[in-house]
Amino acid sequence: MALQRTFIMVKPDGVKRGLIGEIIKRFEQKGFTLLNAELMTINRTKAEYHYTEHKDKPFFGELVDFITSGPVFAMVWEGENIIEVSRLMIGKTSPAEAAPGTIRGDFANTKAENVIHGSDSLLSAEREIENFFGLLKRNIADDDFRYEDRQSM
Ligand code: GDP
Ligand code: MG
Repeated sequence: MALQRTFIMVKPDGVKRGLIGEIIKRFEQKGFTLLNAELMTINRTKAEYHYTEHKDKPFFGELVDFITSGPVFAMVWEGENIIEVSRLMIGKTSPAEAAPGTIRGDFANTKAENVIHGSDSLLSAEREIENFFGLLKRNIADDDFRYEDRQSM
């Protein structure tokens, strides 16, 4: 086990459907710490870099169209083993395989518009956080509002 950071994003369909609060609630309930968050509409360059591993897939253009079609809610979360645990909470990509109780299992019914993104490895988490929040931007919770502080409040 290790304390890790991951990049979680509510996709445009999730934002439009009013699921930001529900998703934050699930991560808070699990005991994870929110370190940074921003509602933003991303350009194609940022979207293409984010999904660079899929650049040769037939659906790449559609994917970039979708993710740039409206605001996304980008977040950095921290917690024990969060890369693996958050992927479990998110559920499988395909709606037929996403188990009930997972975010996609409960809220998504297409493979393309599936509400939420979560990093699949430490390396992608690092790259995705940098792409959305930059290297130098301070995590707003870093200085004075840690989860440990909240628990004793
Ligand atoms: P994830 O890691 O579970 O998000 O899934 P992948 O890395 O396989 O795919 C990245 C994203 O591309 C998915 O979350 C979907 O939004 C999108 N995607 C995957 N497969 C398809 C597809 O067949 N068609 C379209 N339009 N989008 C897809
Ligand atoms: Mg993926």
